[in-house]
Amino acid sequence: MAAIVVVGSLNEDLTVSVSRWPEAGETVFGERLERSAGGKGANQAAAAARLGGEVTMVGRVGDDPAGRRLRDGLSGLGVDVANVAVVHGTPTGMAIVGLDASGGNRIVVLSGANACLESAALDGLDWRGVRVLLLQLEIPLATVTAAARAAHAAGARVVLDPAPAVSLPDELLGLVDILTPNALEAAKLAGREVVDVGTARLVASQLEARGPRAVVITLGASGAVLADGNYVTHLPAPKVAAVDTTGAGDAFNGALAVALAEGQPLASAVIFANRVAALSTTRPGAQASLPDRAAVGSLP
Ligand code: ADP
Repeated sequence: MAAIVVVGSLNEDLTVSVSRWPEAGETVFGERLERSAGGKGANQAAAAARLGGEVTMVGRVGDDPAGRRLRDGLSGLGVDVANVAVVHGTPTGMAIVGLDASGGNRIVVLSGANACLESAALDGLDWRGVRVLLLQLEIPLATVTAAARAAHAAGARVVLDPAPAVSLPDELLGLVDILTPNALEAAKLAGREVVDVGTARLVASQLEARGPRAVVITLGASGAVLADGNYVTHLPAPKVAAVDTTGAGDAFNGALAVALAEGQPLASAVIFANRVAALSTTRPGAQASLPDRAAVGSLP
């Protein structure tokens, strides 16, 4: 497999704009429907590939047009999709995204074929040459843990974006090299609020003590806090004119994987990821907003 392996979800995002949310039992008219490629796994694979990373995606889609579009889209970016298999009789994963007039969103995810990515799907994968495994939580937790175990045994770095947040087994936390929650996920995992850089520092240390070798808490426009062994440090994001932060966390994780696969130290990888993710917020969409290397280089 490639230097970067993503074991994760592929979803079709159906985004509808509404002027306001319906009350229970009420109907409102939507204004626009957009279909786009999504799923945290696929978004992170796409982000890494856009930056020149060599990427293998392991996932499942349904036998339907959405599944073909998602697989072809990743393949078009140069991602190896030989291990994105088609599940018959189950639809491709889907996210129904409602956007209101103030830019707020509400999301309902239907797992579909992503729920069929079982641990057995990892049997026979050859982990030689893999440097970074990138994981999220939109597939069965048992598969996430099995992938972490296999990558760890092969000497690859295991990066886990714990999204959407669920409580994590100790075995999994012990296999993780870098845990990358956003502020809300970090707060849920730690049972303690993250409201600023100061509280993020405390929570990062607290989470690090539960097993991961390092913890990176992303803080939106404030960048990220990194707890790595003996030190905790705040690495700010560049100031940009953000128009849509959808997928910023996915851009961050994809970029982190690319920098780590290139052998950069963790703090430099976080600085690179902040630059990529900040830039992704200056354009609308999740995968459509992902910058390439040239764009990242041109950021002051
Ligand atoms: P998520 O998208 O998972 O909720 P965050 O909101 O923490 O995660 O954003 C992830 C990363 O994206 C941040 O660490 C930062 O690098 C970048 N980012 C997000 N919003 C902004 C912003 N308004 N300005 C600059 N960078 C941003």
